Amino acid sequence: MMNPTRTTCPYCGVGCGVTVEQDAAGAFKVRPDKEHPANLGRLCSKGTALAETLDHPQRLLYPEIHGQRVSWETATTTIASRFQQIIAEHGAEAVAFYVSGQLLTEDYYVANKLMKGFIGAGNIDTNSRLCMASAVAAYKRAFGEDLVPCSYEDLESAQLIVLVGSNAAWCHPVLYQRMVKAKKNNPALKVINIDPRRTQTSDLADVHLGLAPGTDAILFNGLLAWLAENGHTNHAFVSQSTAGMEQAVAMAKTTAPSVQAVAEQCGLPLADVERFFTLFGSTAQVVTVFSQGINQSSSGVDKGNALINCHLLTGRIGKPGMGPFSFTGQPNAMGGREVGGLANQLAAHLDIENPEHRALVQDFWQAPVMATGSGLKAVDLFQAIGTGKVKAVWVMGTNPVVSLPDSERVRAALAQCELVIVSDCVSHTDTLELAHIRLPALGWGERDGTVTNSDRTISRQPPFLPAPGEAKQDWEILTAVAHAMGFAAQFPYQAAHEIFREHAALSAYRNAGTRCFNIGAWQDLSAAEYDALPPTQWPLDAAGQGTVRLFADGKFFTASGKAQFIAVQARLPHAVRTPAFPFVLNTGRVRDHWHTLTRTGISPRLSAHVAEPYVEIHPCDARDQGLQNGGIARIHNGTQHILVKVKTSRDQQRGSLFVPMHWSGQFSSAAGVGCLIPAVVDPISGQPESKHAVVAIEPY
Ligand code: SF4
Repeated sequence: MMNPTRTTCPYCGVGCGVTVEQDAAGAFKVRPDKEHPANLGRLCSKGTALAETLDHPQRLLYPEIHGQRVSWETATTTIASRFQQIIAEHGAEAVAFYVSGQLLTEDYYVANKLMKGFIGAGNIDTNSRLCMASAVAAYKRAFGEDLVPCSYEDLESAQLIVLVGSNAAWCHPVLYQRMVKAKKNNPALKVINIDPRRTQTSDLADVHLGLAPGTDAILFNGLLAWLAENGHTNHAFVSQSTAGMEQAVAMAKTTAPSVQAVAEQCGLPLADVERFFTLFGSTAQVVTVFSQGINQSSSGVDKGNALINCHLLTGRIGKPGMGPFSFTGQPNAMGGREVGGLANQLAAHLDIENPEHRALVQDFWQAPVMATGSGLKAVDLFQAIGTGKVKAVWVMGTNPVVSLPDSERVRAALAQCELVIVSDCVSHTDTLELAHIRLPALGWGERDGTVTNSDRTISRQPPFLPAPGEAKQDWEILTAVAHAMGFAAQFPYQAAHEIFREHAALSAYRNAGTRCFNIGAWQDLSAAEYDALPPTQWPLDAAGQGTVRLFADGKFFTASGKAQFIAVQARLPHAVRTPAFPFVLNTGRVRDHWHTLTRTGISPRLSAHVAEPYVEIHPCDARDQGLQNGGIARIHNGTQHILVKVKTSRDQQRGSLFVPMHWSGQFSSAAGVGCLIPAVVDPISGQPESKHAVVAIEPY
């Protein structure tokens, strides 16, 4: 029997702590960690089933080139020489990395360093682009840096929780459990759920606002205007700690001149809108939770700022039980953000478009060829692969052929790309099928590093399993390629803690308090101290103590030190229903599956919850389209189609459909829903509008 290992669940951004023990018979037991601040002894169905997914039957065990097993040296020197050849012929911008919120922070750090400082391009983007890039941009516009102000404990001290575009009951189940318990302990706590769909999360709500798809910014502009007009402005806070309030309120009034106009534009009962506005106005402790329903939009950044504006106007930020709180989808989307894992970021929350910041990082890394600006964001990156502008791509720990919008175009782009490298821990994904070079990566329980969850808590993920075959951790593979490219001196890493120390040192480098992200107190950690690191919320003070809540002093990280209101001109979704395509297609998760099923798909218990892809449709729409509950529907957009089982539900609005995003040809007989989603993105964040395609549906 081994000692329990304390680690975190590898699925969602809640970042629950778990303990893992092996019994005398060799069986693993995964239990909730009662000490971890994220979950305090809770787990959801996915976390509870983790032990069932440890022994994956289809592991990638050896490096392969064109399907032939090769040595690691052959694989890494081949990658290095092909990169150098392509860079010499076409420039650094012809090489790209597409990484994942599943990577550990140490992996992310090394990938970002190799691309931005040594290959010399900004072309590293991540599947986190699909999950929270709009929240990142909204926070940065408002606060000067990508900063999540709240802490999970604010859910317990709030008197009003507004959940917008969030089915937390299925997508962040442990946080939902915390909210359920908070409401039980405090019956005065009110919950508003804003979502076109009625979901299990709506069961907790005092009011469910089933607004028309894509009208969130109108609703929050209406709230801002109403708060300003009805005496809810916190004048002291606004004058001392913010800028731009008048312009934002004036703009809000143009799109939402009255509560009646808001209700009409959002398709909501007037009384429900009035109740929401009144509750928000009269409750001091308000947390607004936002998630993919806000972010996955062609105006996701503006929507984020529209709701942040309401917290700034009322001064409801920086104190217990208040603030705008983005729930992150992926387990380490936040860690990726810290080390510059997005194409428009630098490491340590520095700005890639700022020449001084680029010089700072180049100096710290002793980098020979720094990227000169932002690289290609996910959707643009795969379009550039399709046009041949990007000639080599290295995909790490993600399956873009299923998860990106316009997925058949992604498949076609990779099929004709000159060099496709895929690192993964499993041997079969839709993306691996298109790889010229396949690299076996370590998975959860085998690799060593850290992750950061949605409330800025950094936690350790140590190994407790042996490495299978010749699999290596992503940072080791990247380091070997860096060495083969001639950068051994700048990539001297032998262990994860050495990378973490460098990451911590960069966060403090020439940081005289002007940047919030700072974990410099950890830059000299020993290997043993790194192993024993307790879950801690960044930023750290000089003594290494974490920070529960940001902006308690009313100071922000803009040039003026004030939070910035953004004047939001509400825009509706890009695609408009037509007689030929009369339905809005919404996509999302189911409770017991994760991403493209590569791990949860092997657990019979998890698959029992929802075993196959389906479309949820209002029974009246089903009747009008000649569809039977339990029958098969064909959903199409004129060029692509999918086949799914029909599930009628009055939780669905008339004219709207919902299809889960998990399944693809690998796990069902039909293509994944991504093929129906157009590659339309938010112009600022580059996040795709995965919640709003227009389609037709018919019996199959
Ligand atoms: Fe894992 Fe998320 Fe469930 Fe927690 S809520 S156990 S992190 S899937």
